[in-house]
Order: sequence, then structure tokens, then C-alpha cells
Amino acid sequence: MTRCLNCGAERTSDICDACGLGSSAAELSLRTRLLVRTAVFALGSLAFLAAGNHYPALDLDAMLIFIGIVFFLALALAIWVERRALRHAEVEALKRLYYGLIPLPWLLAALLFANGALDRSPPRSQSARVIGKFSMSGLLGSHRLVVTSWREGRRVERVPVGRGDFDSYDPGDLVNVQIQSGLAGVPWVAGVSSR
Ligand SMILES: [Zn+2]
Repeated sequence: MTRCLNCGAERTSDICDACGLGSSAAELSLRTRLLVRTAVFALGSLAFLAAGNHYPALDLDAMLIFIGIVFFLALALAIWVERRALRHAEVEALKRLYYGLIPLPWLLAALLFANGALDRSPPRSQSARVIGKFSMSGLLGSHRLVVTSWREGRRVERVPVGRGDFDSYDPGDLVNVQIQSGLAGVPWVAGVSSR
């Protein structure tokens, strides 16, 4: 059984009865749609990075690793769908799986943004000592102060900070880290100040 690459209907001849496209036109339509959705997905990932930059979750690094894995899995899936389409193999199930992943970075970006923007909880001040710092240049650039942890079972926290705070503190400095609980219960870093 062959399915139309455009609409997914069963196809008995070269021209699909349901949408009227020939097999090569249907293939082109599928590839265009894959490309558009991949762009939407990539933009969502950028929105997530921007939200994480604006309202940095305390565990931002773990979230970035998660979204990075999802990103590469989704790209691999898109390439797989396209390869199978070229061989005229069945793509419906894989295609739906891929389309299902498209809103994920947008949802996480919205969650992270709302978590910080609509958070009315008072900041809690946690005292910590800076033990290291590192920065990565990249799309949005990221700066972390590595400080002693106040949470049970953890040795260090990698606190996301802005460029100014990053330059102001050095290992050995005593700081207060302002933590807010977050509307969605994701603790985020409101700021860092000297003690
Ligand atoms: Zn069709």
C-alpha cells in the first residue's frame, strides 16, 4: 500500500484521489512542509534560549541539555522522514511524531517566560561563596557563577548571571543569590549581590 506524501491518503495510481497531486508534486509538498516546520521548531528553540536568558532557571543547564537532545533528535527524525520519502517508503507515523515535537520548544519557552514574568513571590536571599566561574560565547552568550550550594544533596550551583555580575565577582567572594520560586514552581535567579 502506498500513501500520498502530501495528504496521507491511500493511493492506487500516480495521481492521489484525495488531493489530486501526482507523486513528485506530493513529495515536493512534503519537503516544503518539513522545511517550514523545522524553521518553526528552530525558532521555538531560540525563543526558549531567550526566555532562559531573561528569567534564568536555577537549573538552566539541565534544561539546556534536555532541549539540545530534543533538538538533535527532532532534526534526525526530519532527515529520516525525508530520506524515506525519497525512497517512497511509508512516512505517516514518523511524520506525525515529528510534527508532534514542533510545539515542544515553544511550550517550554512559554512556561519559562510565564514562570518568571508572572511570578509575584518575594525573592529569597541565599548566601553562597563563589568558587569558580565560566562563560561560553554563543548565540546569546552565557555566564555562570559556580557557587557553594544551599540545597541539600548538592555541592555546587551553576548560577546563570548577566555579563555585569559575571565581571563583578571572583572566586572567594561572598554573595547573596536572590531566588524566586517561580509561578510554575521552577526556581529562577533574580539577581546576585555582594554580602
Ligand atoms: Zn494526496
